[in-house]
Amino acid sequence: MGAFDIVVVGAGISGSTLAERYACRGSRVLVLEKRHHIGGNCYDSFDGHGILVSNYGAHLFHTEYEDVWRYVNRFSAWYPYEHRVLARVDGKLVPIPVNITTVNTLFGLSLQSEAEMQRFLDRVQVKHPAPRNGEEAALARVGHVLYEKMFKHYTKKQWNKYPHELDASVLQRIPIRTNFDDRYFSDRFQALPVEGYTKLFEKMLGHPNIEVRLNTDYFDVRDTAEVRGCRKLFYAGPIDRFFDYRHSRHQKLQWRSIHFEWITLDREYFQENSVINYPDPADGEFTRIVEYKHFTRQKHEKTTISREYTTDEGDPYYPVPNPENDAIYRRYQEEADRLTDVHFVGRLANYKYFNMDQAFKNALDLFHSLEGDDPSGL
Ligand code: UDP
Repeated sequence: MGAFDIVVVGAGISGSTLAERYACRGSRVLVLEKRHHIGGNCYDSFDGHGILVSNYGAHLFHTEYEDVWRYVNRFSAWYPYEHRVLARVDGKLVPIPVNITTVNTLFGLSLQSEAEMQRFLDRVQVKHPAPRNGEEAALARVGHVLYEKMFKHYTKKQWNKYPHELDASVLQRIPIRTNFDDRYFSDRFQALPVEGYTKLFEKMLGHPNIEVRLNTDYFDVRDTAEVRGCRKLFYAGPIDRFFDYRHSRHQKLQWRSIHFEWITLDREYFQENSVINYPDPADGEFTRIVEYKHFTRQKHEKTTISREYTTDEGDPYYPVPNPENDAIYRRYQEEADRLTDVHFVGRLANYKYFNMDQAFKNALDLFHSLEGDDPSGL
């Protein structure tokens, strides 16, 4: 018998959760991580100026799942943080999701009540009972003018596709508000880890039954006795790579990545909000500017911001949900389903745009379905 019962590929949310659960149950777990650090895209670190930043973009935790909330609280203290986003439109900063303030600012109106906002929306919305793509989904919510100003070109910047080329689900991530609520999310639990995400992952993976090997590409070691000898494998990498891209020879399974332009400024703050979106192509090719000190409230005489540009090159971050990619993914999924004792977990292996809490939830649910209920009550 090999030294490890369980091998986990990828030390992000899904992999770390499964590693932690199995380790607590007494299994010996090997975690293989290609990058030089744990935490996946949640990884954060102090930059050269001593400012805590998220190296792969902002991660705002929000959930309705009580079990997930209880679980993440085992590994870190959390402080309440309700995320808000502003978008620069027509030279003004307006709340996104669209709410009464957004409409009043951009249309020079003074709507005051939900009823007035609802009447405005009834006038502008282009009803689609079952939107077939992102454009229909957005038009059904906000109508033509707001669609053009806030969604169409931002989506092109982010996905290199217009909304009509994407599934409705992509733009349905953003609600519309008929009141003054300017929070990005409305979930019951919204918080950030007091010492950052990396510390949380260190705690999750710190169990003595877990060995983490960084800078280790699973595909370089998959044929070693140690890896082959395990009882179960959890794979959180891109699904097409696992199958050697064999269904992507004619048409690639598409992914989007982000290029970050980091700038540290000799002033305490740069912008009035943590995230400002730039839907207007005239403002530049970047989608948004993030200023990290707004999240952490870190006291520092300087501030670090990042401009985000989404690209086709680089590590895969986002699956691109549309019918063409779904068809390719389904071929991989059929093969994945035929494998016993290999489980495909997380955003990259399921080709699904999961939020952080969904990734935790799926990993916990998978563990319970494979191993039965957890005596600790999760
Ligand atoms: N979106 C947009 N304008 C915005 C913000 C979002 O058009 O100001 C669209 C865009 O297509 C994006 C989608 O709505 O991919 C979902 O936004 P979300 O903030 O959930 O994307 P994330 O930043 O989490 O990838």
